[in-house]
Amino acid sequence: VVTRLQSSGLFRSQGLIGGKWIDAYDGKTFKVHNPANGEVITNVPLMGKRETDDAISSAHDAFKSWSKLTAADRSNRLRKWYELLIAHKEELGQLITLEQGKPLKEAMGEVTYGASFIEFFSEEAKRVYGDIISPTLADRRLFVLKQPVGVVGVITPWNFPLAMITRKVGPALACGCTVVIKPAELTPLTALAAAELSLQAGIPAGVVNVVMGDAPAVGDAILASSQVRKITFTGSTAVGKKLMAGAAGTVKRVSLELGGNAPCIVFDDADVDVAVKGAIAAKFRNTGQTCVCANRIFVQEGIYEKFADAFSKAVQNLQVGDGFGEGVSLGPLINEAAVQKVEKFLQDATTKGAKVLLGGKRHSLGMTFFEPTVLTDVKNDMLLSREEIFGPVAPLLPFRTEEEAIALANDTNAGLAAYIFTNSIQRSWRVTEALEYGLVGVNEGLISTEVAPFGGVKQSGLGREGSKYGLDEYLELKYVCLGNM
Ligand code: ADP
Repeated sequence: VVTRLQSSGLFRSQGLIGGKWIDAYDGKTFKVHNPANGEVITNVPLMGKRETDDAISSAHDAFKSWSKLTAADRSNRLRKWYELLIAHKEELGQLITLEQGKPLKEAMGEVTYGASFIEFFSEEAKRVYGDIISPTLADRRLFVLKQPVGVVGVITPWNFPLAMITRKVGPALACGCTVVIKPAELTPLTALAAAELSLQAGIPAGVVNVVMGDAPAVGDAILASSQVRKITFTGSTAVGKKLMAGAAGTVKRVSLELGGNAPCIVFDDADVDVAVKGAIAAKFRNTGQTCVCANRIFVQEGIYEKFADAFSKAVQNLQVGDGFGEGVSLGPLINEAAVQKVEKFLQDATTKGAKVLLGGKRHSLGMTFFEPTVLTDVKNDMLLSREEIFGPVAPLLPFRTEEEAIALANDTNAGLAAYIFTNSIQRSWRVTEALEYGLVGVNEGLISTEVAPFGGVKQSGLGREGSKYGLDEYLELKYVCLGNM
């Protein structure tokens, strides 16, 4: 696969600063691994403060001309980038599977999904409108202009190596902002390939820059720079809090997509087949490694046995293996630390009374493969109910009443995605309104789309990505008062 990718021109293993592919200034590198077999894919530059400062300068220079282009011009270039991403869907999918591990079909799905943000925001680029306000004095005219924020620092995680970047960079570029991207060190290759395609699409040098290596050093340089006017981050709540605090020094705008602890509530009146299908999709996508993965599956007493039985049967059918394998639906976890975390959570749950209905240990394939697992008799105070599991473990928690389910679901500091399964219209509205979450799926387990706003409440984050609302994150309002007319 690597040889084929190399000949495609998309296999980049240097950073991108001001339109030039660049090594670390001191020549240092770090390794990128294939999580399915531990093999080293390639070495990429271990960059730090100096390279980041130069990337920021490039972005700052490029902002002057990029922000002055007409919206239609930026739109056309974004559209071209979208078309190139789709034209190279197969190579990008292979890169994602190679460095991230998810099954190839799912990886190609991520390319379609990731590219959709560039397409959507290429269209929205043309729809940034200001306002005219009725004045309070007769000799005045009042206007609101919308202008790009400026240089944006983009820090992204490894679970969606492409989509987490495009859903930030799409709206940023559409508005006229320029970016310094720091992809996750575990998955930089997809980001570099996407950046290469942005150049091919005619997005000028310096508009998109990519640096990686020493994450805290790069992050600190971005935070310290007064030229960077905004930081947008997807990742852990702990790092998000650090970045938010660090942004205070230069009063940057901040958008954060942090950890979730998604409840999936299955009521007695649900259609069991729909609930099983939805819960499987919400739980096991990307081997459980997404911030919207169902973390706690609450099942009402009357349907508990029936659901547990049907759900386990469906889980048994999930095929674990190398993402390049035929028919594989669950790839490896990202690394050994991720497996150890899952093991720790399982240990905690079983010593506190949870029962393993299925799976419960490392897969016979070895490496970082883990058996898809179903636990019953889980309680809301166990570790795996308090924190994100980020692995293929589905905990079932019984409940009696609707009120109890809502209270349990909201009993967390997180508030990203929630799922409910019920055939009652009244209940679906009542529960949806009572859930302290930014996204709610009703009778549906896969709900992310570029046309709808994605984001959390409480400690799951700030701001929204995707949709018409996603543009606001990259625009400043300027009030203009024309007086003495
Ligand atoms: P995850 O648990 O998903 O790996 P992290 O929050 O650790 O989440 O990582 C998300 C992104 O944040 C990655 O790109 C990572 O390199 C980056 N990161 C981690 N620590 C810092 C830091 N101190 N400053 C800036 N970025 C950081």
